[in-house]
Amino acid sequence: MARIELSDLAHSYRRGASDLGDFALKPMTLTWRQGGAYALLGPSGCGKTTLLNIISGLLVPSHGRVLFDGRDVSHLPTEARNIAQVFQFPVVYDTMTVYENLAFPLRNRGMMGGTVDRRVREIAALLDLTEELNRKARGLTADAKQKISLGRGLVRPDVAAILFDEPLTVIDPQLKWELRSKLKALHRALDLTMIYVTHDQTEALTFADTVVVMHDGRVVQAGRPDELFEKPAHTFVGYFIGSPGMNVLPASVAGNHAQVAGATIELPQSYEIPAGKRIEIGIRPEFAMLARPGEGLPVRVERIDDLGRSRLARLRLREHAVAAGVPDGLGEIGETAGLILQPGHIHVYADGARLDGR
Ligand code: ATP
Repeated sequence: MARIELSDLAHSYRRGASDLGDFALKPMTLTWRQGGAYALLGPSGCGKTTLLNIISGLLVPSHGRVLFDGRDVSHLPTEARNIAQVFQFPVVYDTMTVYENLAFPLRNRGMMGGTVDRRVREIAALLDLTEELNRKARGLTADAKQKISLGRGLVRPDVAAILFDEPLTVIDPQLKWELRSKLKALHRALDLTMIYVTHDQTEALTFADTVVVMHDGRVVQAGRPDELFEKPAHTFVGYFIGSPGMNVLPASVAGNHAQVAGATIELPQSYEIPAGKRIEIGIRPEFAMLARPGEGLPVRVERIDDLGRSRLARLRLREHAVAAGVPDGLGEIGETAGLILQPGHIHVYADGARLDGR
C-alpha cells in the first residue's frame, strides 16, 4: 500500500483551457495517508470520477502530478500502478468458480500454492463466500457476483490502493446495509489504502475515516465524519451532509451578534467580517428548536414531519425556510411560534467559507 499525493492537480477536458470554469477539477493539493479509508463524496458532476480516473491511471491530468510514495506516476498506465478497482457492476468470470475468480488476481501477479489458497479463504470468509467457493459464478445472484467483485478487489495484499467506484449501487438494500459495515471491518482487518467514491452520504460516513467532500470540481472539506457534521467548512458541506442539511440564513454580523431576519441573536464568538462579503449563519436542525411565541426568532409553522422517535418542524422565518426540532406540546401547523438556536452550534460563513471567531 502507498501514500498517495495529489500535487497541484487540476484537469480540464478542453485542451489548452485557461479559464477555471472550463476545469472539471480545480487546482487541489491533497495527501492520502497510507492505510487510510477515504471516501470521495459529492453530487453528480462534481468531479469524483475524473479524480478517480486520474488516480487509477485511466486519465492523465492536464496539470500537476500524482505521486505514489513520492514517485511520480502521473503518466503511468493503470497496469503499472499496482492498484485494484471495484466498479458499480460486477466484474466476474462466469465460467470460473468463486474460488478461481478470487485466486485469479493473485495468480496473475505470480503468487502460487498455499499463499493463494490461504488468502482466497481469508477473503471468502470475510465476505461470507466460503459456502459458495466451489460454485460457478454463472448461477449466482447479482448481489453474490458483486461480493465476488469486492473480493477480487480486496484479495491482493500488495496493492498500492483499492479504488471503489459506487460499488453498492446495484446491491439489494438489506445486503447493502450489511456490506457497508462489512467494508469498514474489512478495512480494519486488511489495513489497505482504500478510496471509496460515492454520492451517498451514509455510505461515505459509514466507511471512511476521512471524507473528502467535492463540489463543482473543488475539494471543499476533507475531514472526519464528526468534523463534517460539527464544523462544516463550507455551507455546501453543511447542506449536503445531514438529513435534512444545515439551515443557512443570510445575516449581518458585528462582533458577537448577528442580525437575522430582523432579529438579533448572540454568537458564541466574536467575528471580524471582511468588507463586502456575503455573510450567512449556519445551524443544523439538531441544534434549532421550536419554542413558544415571543421566544427567540419569530417563525410560522408550515409542516411537521413525524420521524418516529422525534418530530421535525418545517418553519418559515420571513422568506426563509428553516428546519428545527419540536418539543412536546408544540407544533400546530399554521401557528406563529418562536425559534431558539443553540449559540454554541451557530457557524458564520463569508462567501460560503466558514469563519473562525475569537
Ligand atoms: P457522477 O457521480 O455523475 O459520475 P462525477 O462527480 O463523477 O459525476 P465527473 O464524471 O468527474 O463527475 O464529471 C465532472 C465534470 O466533467 C462534469 O461537468 C462532466 O460533464 C465533465 N466530464 C466528465 N467526463 C468528461 C469527458 N470525457 N469529456 C468532457 N467532459 C467530461
